[in-house]
Amino acid sequence: MPLVVQKYGGSSLADADSIKRVARRIVDTRKAGNRVCVVVSAMGDTTDELLDLADAVSPDPPERELDMLLTAGERMSMALVSMAIANLGDSARSFTGSQAGVITDDVHGRARIIDVTPGRITEALDAGHIVIVAGFQGVSQNTKEITTLGRGGSDTTAVALAAALKADVCEIYTDVDGIFTADPRIVPTARKIDRITNEEMQEMAASGAKVLMLRCVEYARRFGMPIHVRSSFSHREGTWVYETQGEDDVEAPIIAGVAHDRSEAKITVVGVSDSPGQAASIFKAIAEQQINIDMIVQNVSAIATGRTDVSFTLPKTDGQRAVRVLQSVKAELGFEQLQYDDQIGKLSLVGSGMRSHPGVSATLFQALADSGINIEMISTSEIRVSVVTRDDQLDNAVRAVHTAFGLDAADGEAVVYGGSGR
Ligand code: ASP
Ligand code: MG
Repeated sequence: MPLVVQKYGGSSLADADSIKRVARRIVDTRKAGNRVCVVVSAMGDTTDELLDLADAVSPDPPERELDMLLTAGERMSMALVSMAIANLGDSARSFTGSQAGVITDDVHGRARIIDVTPGRITEALDAGHIVIVAGFQGVSQNTKEITTLGRGGSDTTAVALAAALKADVCEIYTDVDGIFTADPRIVPTARKIDRITNEEMQEMAASGAKVLMLRCVEYARRFGMPIHVRSSFSHREGTWVYETQGEDDVEAPIIAGVAHDRSEAKITVVGVSDSPGQAASIFKAIAEQQINIDMIVQNVSAIATGRTDVSFTLPKTDGQRAVRVLQSVKAELGFEQLQYDDQIGKLSLVGSGMRSHPGVSATLFQALADSGINIEMISTSEIRVSVVTRDDQLDNAVRAVHTAFGLDAADGEAVVYGGSGR
């Protein structure tokens, strides 16, 4: 019997009625002749609400306790979905991440899955049950503590379980009909993508597209697990994230889509002496704080002063820490001042056709120029061009670039079925 792993996101499980609707869908999948293992997220905005609660009792909650709190969200969902299935006359068993054998490293808040030992899941499936697993959580191999996988982590749970169970497919159910050429909340004319390579999807996710978590795509790529992203609110065919077989996919469009990201800030180190070792010292100080940086720009030095400015982007959540550490080594490094700017946005154009089609950057920059949008930083990879703009110009930038590359759908508007977009 084929094995299907399905994942339902928070917006598909927002209230009792949604849970009953999802339960019906799961039972139908099973009746169609499949074994079914389901991964659930927390209901609606539960995770954000739990974070708000934690914040209300402590400005700096211990990481261990935060993970204990957040994993409760997914446990509510798993039990409720199981009950709703039982009420339809089918049998379901729910399991926490730890019971399901999701083994992680010991980093609270953004643990990595290092192994999946799904013995209890296989047993329950063999006994004829539908299995419901709490997403976004695992247990640390070393410390035996409960961990969470980072925001959106249920996607990763689903793909990791699908790979470990050798499932035929991993279906990710969300509140839109699939993966779009841009976020339909910003670009109403965004078009649903039928097929996207996991290489492109990885770049889109890394560039801020939230429809799939980055780790989940990396995992799928590593294990060759096909993902079908689709809506739990319709029965339409969604988007297939597939593996390229090495050779170029001749039918693939040049551009897959436009992603955007508002989660980063920019730090400029002003007046760095233009001599060997300066960049190394700056980024060593940042790296020692385990902070990941994204784009880096160094200007040519002013001939008169022999000094230069170095700008880089990093997650806003690490911004203050980075500023503190750089301030603390200011005397040692000998730069003049620091500027911190969290009013930036990043737009990324992604497509594997860029490898063989010149002129993509020129079209992108022209589209921004025509809309009067200033570019503050640029970075590229083989299949991506990213630019930093002012935060309040980002939505316009995304729409302009989407149009310039002919991605607008001729017919109707993209449907967003649910979710608060929080
Ligand atoms: N509930 C968690 C979150 O909101 C995990 C997930 O939804 O995948 O980030
Ligand atoms: Mg969620």
